[in-house]
Amino acid sequence: MFFDPLYFLLLSPALLLAMWAQWRVRATYEQAMQQPAPMTGAQAARRILDHAGLNHIPIEEVPGQLSDHYDPRTQTVRLSTDVYRQHSCAAVGIAAHEVGHAIQHAEHYAPLVVRNFAVPAAIVGPNLSIMLLIGGALLGLPALIWIGIIVFGGVAAFQLVNLPVEFDASNRAKRHLSEMGIVDFQGAAAVRGVLNAAAWTYVAATLQTLLTLLYYIVRYGGMGSRSND
Ligand SMILES: [Zn+2]
Repeated sequence: MFFDPLYFLLLSPALLLAMWAQWRVRATYEQAMQQPAPMTGAQAARRILDHAGLNHIPIEEVPGQLSDHYDPRTQTVRLSTDVYRQHSCAAVGIAAHEVGHAIQHAEHYAPLVVRNFAVPAAIVGPNLSIMLLIGGALLGLPALIWIGIIVFGGVAAFQLVNLPVEFDASNRAKRHLSEMGIVDFQGAAAVRGVLNAAAWTYVAATLQTLLTLLYYIVRYGGMGSRSND
C-alpha cells in the first residue's frame, strides 16, 4: 500500500513540513550550540529541578544525539552527552524542556496524565491497525477494516493530546531559564529558536498521522460496501 500514489499525494504536505522542521531543528541547534551559557545542561536541569522542589529527581547521561527525555516510570531526566556536558544555549534549552516534563508530572498536568495513559496504545496502534486493515481487505470484512481505522484514530488522538504537553514543556523551559538568569536576552532567543523548531517536528508528525488516517478512510473505508456495484 505504500507504493500507492494516492498515499504520497495525500501525505506530501506533512512530509514537506517534516523535512522543513528537521532542517530547522538542525540549523537552530547548530546556532544555539555556538551561543555560550554559564553552565552545562545537566547543571541547569539540576538548578531548575531543585528550584521546583524536585531534589529527588535524578539526572542521567545517555548516549546518542537528541536522545533526551524524561522517563515518567522511574522519574528520571535523561540527557544526551552533548546536552549533559556542554555550556551552550542549546544544551540548557533542551535540558530545561525535559525538566519541564518532570514538573508537569509532579503537578499532575492533565494533558500529560492522558498522554502517559495512552502511550501503550500509541506504540502498538500503528502496526495493529495496518494488520486489521489488510486482514479486513483480504477477508472482505468491512467491520475489521473499521476497527483498524478506529485504532489508528486512537494513535492520532494520542498525538493531538501530546502537542499541548510539548508546547507547555517548552514554555516552562523558556520561562525558567530567563527568570532564573540562566540565559540572557540573546540566549533566550537562541533557546526559543531550538524549542520552536522542535515543536514543528511534533506538528508535522501529527499532521502525518491525521493525513494517514484520511488515506485509510478513503482507500479502505468504502471496501465491502461497494462490492455489488
Ligand atoms: Zn518533550
